[in-house]
Amino acid sequence: MKISAIWNEALNGLKTQVSSLSYDLWINTLEPIDLIDGTLYLSTTSANAKSRVLSLHGDQIRETLKGITDEIKDFMVLDPYEKDEYFERLRQEQEKTIAQTKKFNNFDKKYTFDNFVVGNSNKYVFAAAIGVAEHPGKINPLFIYGGTGLGKTHLLHAIGNYLEEHNPELNVLYVTCEKFVNDYIESMKNGGNHYNSNFREKYRSVDVLMVDDIQIISRHTGTQEEFFHTFNDLYQNNKQIIIVSDRPPKEIPTLIERLASRFSMGFVQDIQTPDFETRVAILQKKAEIEKLNVSDDVINYIAENFDTNIRELEGILGKVHFYACLHMKEMADMDDLRESLKDHVTSTKQNLTTDRIIDCVCKYYNVSRSDLLGKKKNKEIVEPRQICMYIILEMLALPLTSVGQIFGGKDHTTVIHAREKVSEMIKNNPRVKIAVDDIKSMASRQ
Ligand code: ADP
Ligand code: MG
Repeated sequence: MKISAIWNEALNGLKTQVSSLSYDLWINTLEPIDLIDGTLYLSTTSANAKSRVLSLHGDQIRETLKGITDEIKDFMVLDPYEKDEYFERLRQEQEKTIAQTKKFNNFDKKYTFDNFVVGNSNKYVFAAAIGVAEHPGKINPLFIYGGTGLGKTHLLHAIGNYLEEHNPELNVLYVTCEKFVNDYIESMKNGGNHYNSNFREKYRSVDVLMVDDIQIISRHTGTQEEFFHTFNDLYQNNKQIIIVSDRPPKEIPTLIERLASRFSMGFVQDIQTPDFETRVAILQKKAEIEKLNVSDDVINYIAENFDTNIRELEGILGKVHFYACLHMKEMADMDDLRESLKDHVTSTKQNLTTDRIIDCVCKYYNVSRSDLLGKKKNKEIVEPRQICMYIILEMLALPLTSVGQIFGGKDHTTVIHAREKVSEMIKNNPRVKIAVDDIKSMASRQ
């Protein structure tokens, strides 16, 4: 029964029991506002009106209401001040329940442990992630690092999804480092000091804190300090901290020493590029999840030729499927793959071609094109050649075999070797890093 209907019926009943003056003065000015747990809340016009109506007609009202419905056990009269308080309390309670139901991030449901293919490249990090999800606070902090598109974010969401299912009372917070930095800057703007309560409340009330792509914190020294305090606070309270980065702690430039050593004191685990078998398994799994019908040779070709970034692997698989649908084929085959690869290369960099990169490398090192693409083995040529392969792979994402073709039919393992060699040199030799950066910007400028 609606409370307005209950109250109308009560008014009809009360009209016959009290004098018309009393009715008009005290009863008819009451308004029903809520019915909670069997108590009907009525508002009145003043504190005085409240005490009068209760002392004169309290019992009559109670009895009348009970006679109408057994939904009502009691009633309460609120004066205007109490009414405002009542609504304010209601609002706060609502906010609290909203905050509680929202305390979990919306973890991406497709990123689960079940959907994560485990191979040699990631079995340790996978075990660590499961360990954290099963026993938050035990492996602490967990620091995961590795290149782009290797499943780091996937694992964080998988931990989140697992906790949401098995430990729903825990407050789990996933943020990108960028979000953390922005929240901090925002709190500084509003509060103007380090101890701004909203920020602290948000980050220090969690049971599990995950920060993705922490390397960008290196540009923000102030935020590093704040993160250090947040970290300590959570750590001392035995809260789980999980940090993801594209490189190990000691290689994050300008990371304050205290933070670097905090990161290193827990469990540091890298995630590597998956081997061929794992890449095939990932593609098969992806095809199965998305219900893509793709021939084995397509899967093998993609797995063989794209080996650094799983996101890219998935992108090509999706495109192949798209072309198969376009031609209304039951199953995607090598023809669809060929079309997708053309598409892939042109869409990666619209005007950037292998020719242009080769020209830039030749100019930069002052070597001839025929030497660069030829077979000479002296150091003056080998280094630019390897750098050229590296840049083509990075900027154009061509299949390894195609890059081999450009350099006089070299085997794809030679291309892999070149790429590894150059990434090693970039890390250890500033001269090479500068060269690679300069050539890349030359190539994209022209
Ligand atoms: P990162 O955060 O390391 O850059 P992501 O977690 O975003 O990489 O992963 C990129 C894509 O590759 C996602 O779609 C993810 O599901 C997929 N992926 C990565 N590793 C695996 C794996 N081992 N099994 C299944 N899918 C994976
Ligand atoms: Mg990521």
